[in-house]
Amino acid sequence: MSDVRNVIIIGSGPAGYTAALYTARASLKPLVFEGAVTAGGALMNTTDVENFPGFRDGIMGPDLMDNMRAQAERFGAELVPDDVVSVDLTGDIKTVTDTAGTVHRAKAVIVSTGSQHRKLGLPKEDALSGRGVSWCATCDGFFFKDQDIAVVGGGDTAMEEATFLSRFAKSVTIVHRRDTLRASKAMQDRAFADSKIKFAWDSAVAELQGDQKLAGVTLRDTKTGETTPLPVTGLFIAVGHDPRTELFKGQLELDDEGYVKVDAPSTRTNLTGVFAAGDVVDHTYRQAITAAGTGCSAALDAERFLASLA
Ligand code: FAD
Repeated sequence: MSDVRNVIIIGSGPAGYTAALYTARASLKPLVFEGAVTAGGALMNTTDVENFPGFRDGIMGPDLMDNMRAQAERFGAELVPDDVVSVDLTGDIKTVTDTAGTVHRAKAVIVSTGSQHRKLGLPKEDALSGRGVSWCATCDGFFFKDQDIAVVGGGDTAMEEATFLSRFAKSVTIVHRRDTLRASKAMQDRAFADSKIKFAWDSAVAELQGDQKLAGVTLRDTKTGETTPLPVTGLFIAVGHDPRTELFKGQLELDDEGYVKVDAPSTRTNLTGVFAAGDVVDHTYRQAITAAGTGCSAALDAERFLASLA
């Protein structure tokens, strides 16, 4: 069993590294669990990031995360490329157990484990991520000016992505498994009224074409099984996100979709001394800059909480 730390941070995306930077600069010597295979978070899987302020010419996702990591480390954050496998956050002293079974203790914990976008499960889906396949219209829409693109999904997010993308694209085809949408009436009406948006009903994406870049997709009719090519250079997958909150079930209060509930605008959770930031909380914005922003808030909230104990 380790000594009692001031703060442990779980997660190493923009939220976790920003929380690490701020708590390290406040001399709190944070211990950061970065995750075993996904250290650096969601941006490790993308190419150009053009909307993180401060990088006039954009920056590659992995480079941005390496910079954040190095900046946190420079001020004394202790970074561990390991997963947390269990936690007890209920007492005054929180415990966090790593994959080797070592129990780490702290007075405060910041949860920044992010959320996982749902995939279609197709071969090449990962390889073409950031190369035509995307999960974020706000992030990548600009790259598809005057191109034919497709959006997969039938909910509000898919309609929102499609109507946003139609500003840039030549055409947007919404690919949906059924012949009716799940999206709210207002979102459906906006999509139906948009002359650039077409619908491929009763259709699923069966195959992705291209090696270095997406060159098109094959659609399969969900009723007849018939396949047809759809020549698009961009595919936006909007079939949902799963917040990574398995570890915290039964301890942290979660909402109906499994996101951590916080006492907004603070990052306080239902448990004293436990704070949450980034996409594990955020249904709405899901951006690197908003995750970094709430990571900063969580660090300041933790700092004030620790000061109140003294
Ligand atoms: P994440 O970045 O998801 O990081 C979560 C971290 O928690 C990971 O490191 C993971 O390893 C760790 N973790 C999870 N569970 C555990 C555990 N049990 N133990 C230890 N560690 C754990 N946003 C933009 O602003 N601009 C873009 O251009 C952009 N492009 C994107 C491209 C792609 C392909 C994707 C998927 C997302 C993109 N986004 C972009 C969105 C952005 O990446 C996210 O909003 C942001 O990364 C969320 O940050 P986060 O810190 O909350 O979580």
